[in-house]
Amino acid sequence: MVRLDGIHKSYGAHDVLTDVSLTVSRGSVTALIGPSGAGKSTLLRCINLLERPDRGTIAVDGRTLDLGDRVPAKDLAALRRQVGMVFQSFNLFPHLTVLRNISLPQQRVLGRSRQEADARSMELLTRVGLADKAAQYPGRCSGGQQQRIAIARALALDPRVMLFDEPTSALDPELGLEVLAVMRELAQDGMTMIVVTHEMQFARDVSDHLVVMADGGIVEQGDPVQIMRDPSHPRTRRFLRAVL
Ligand code: ATP
Ligand code: MG
Repeated sequence: MVRLDGIHKSYGAHDVLTDVSLTVSRGSVTALIGPSGAGKSTLLRCINLLERPDRGTIAVDGRTLDLGDRVPAKDLAALRRQVGMVFQSFNLFPHLTVLRNISLPQQRVLGRSRQEADARSMELLTRVGLADKAAQYPGRCSGGQQQRIAIARALALDPRVMLFDEPTSALDPELGLEVLAVMRELAQDGMTMIVVTHEMQFARDVSDHLVVMADGGIVEQGDPVQIMRDPSHPRTRRFLRAVL
């Protein structure tokens, strides 16, 4: 479903990602963990091309881009459209209602009619348990609700894969649980997901595959329960000692 091969990214002389390769199968949940500065966010941003890797290839759903080559803008846009992303900060439009936050991007990006987009938005709001907030403004919603709205907004564009970058770390634990519950349901419904998280319980219970990053590379990956019980890399051990 998602395949990264030999991804490199540097900022000036600073290599932030060195030769990262990763395969994510359809319908699986991959948890990405590791210390601050490891390159986790940069890797996610490379997958949806918010950040352009210096070289390497990215394939989403069979469409492969070689980023060392010149890539036509329409191919970049097509790949980007297949990838949904949810950030730590929700970035909702404060002057639009909850419903319009979700339906406007569908009209702009997918060319859906207002009616079609609103209908799909209501469907998704129901799915994240917020149908009653449709006419509200985001500022009137709790952080946990805003994050669930941001998830609905990303889902509304029918992505093939959803990326989450520490979606609960700006939230009180209780509100974080609401968001994690929605993510758990998404996973159960078969959405392909890559999740950067410090929620070790979520990683253990929900993810199928655990990837540990440090210093711009993947140091260890495999079964989450196995790695948490018996990490083989010293960097993993050190990181898990700090967070578990
Ligand atoms: P955290 O857990 O703190 O979110 P992370 O694993 O997500 O960390 P990144 O944000 O990917 O780490 O950053 C990896 C490295 O790249 C860091 O050293 C960071 O300072 C550097 N970096 C990230 N973005 C930029 C940028 N736009 N310009 C220069 N350096 C950057
Ligand atoms: Mg980060």
